[in-house]
Amino acid sequence: MTSKSLFRSIVLLTAFVLVLSSAYAMIGRNICGKCNWINKAETILCENCQNPLNHCLKCGHDNMAKADYCANCSMPLAEMRVLATIAPEVRTQLKLGESPRAVADLEIKRLEYLLQTDAENAEKHLFNLAMTHKRIDFYSRESALWLDFLQKYPNSEKAAEAKVNGSDSLRKWSYLLYSQGSYARAVELLNESLRLNPANKEAQKWLKIARGGMKKSGQTAVAKPQAVEATEAAPQMEEAQPAPKTEATPAVEAAPATEAAPQTGNP
Ligand SMILES: [Zn+2]
Ligand SMILES: [Zn+2]
Repeated sequence: MTSKSLFRSIVLLTAFVLVLSSAYAMIGRNICGKCNWINKAETILCENCQNPLNHCLKCGHDNMAKADYCANCSMPLAEMRVLATIAPEVRTQLKLGESPRAVADLEIKRLEYLLQTDAENAEKHLFNLAMTHKRIDFYSRESALWLDFLQKYPNSEKAAEAKVNGSDSLRKWSYLLYSQGSYARAVELLNESLRLNPANKEAQKWLKIARGGMKKSGQTAVAKPQAVEATEAAPQMEEAQPAPKTEATPAVEAAPATEAAPQTGNP
């Protein structure tokens, strides 16, 4: 390498580093909130004053400045960085970040992150994600998650629970549509609800009501529901006895890691 091209490389590299560090500075997460020292993206405690730069309020772990999710508990850190700038007494007084909705929002982000990064436990994370939506009465999204769960893990130990929950969330969602005058769509959801759990008494009752509304209003049936025939073949509600477990076949295959390894050419 000639000294001229070496010089050029150094200039380019310096420019690159400057652009990068100003990008970090703009994001601001590497700037110490206490002393304004500009730290490296990998820094955990401020190099100047030892102040933690990216503290997880959920589990107490101190993360690198650049981390978006807690390395220990996977909580999303952006909201926490903001909360962390507010004095703890004030935070407690105002119950900042403690409303059920705020707590659930963080949990949802955490589980969505885990779904992408921890494929081995995807079944558990997807179940918990649906449960979190159930807690905040987000019926449409909850329904979609249960249906997704049942499609991906039809043999799950939790399939029966997922069907009952899915059936109920579809029923509750149908109320909303019914109350907005979307009778045909309500009927569609209630049919879907009963397909998941034929024993759902409330859904049976509301199906009649919604059909009445549909007739009166002259709405016609919605075309076939978009998803989920998954459960039709299987008997819906098995009585209490658990299916005998075959050790050989794991109920759930972990989704294959996203990028397939490049095939090495076999001769
Ligand atoms: Zn500092
Ligand atoms: Zn944490």
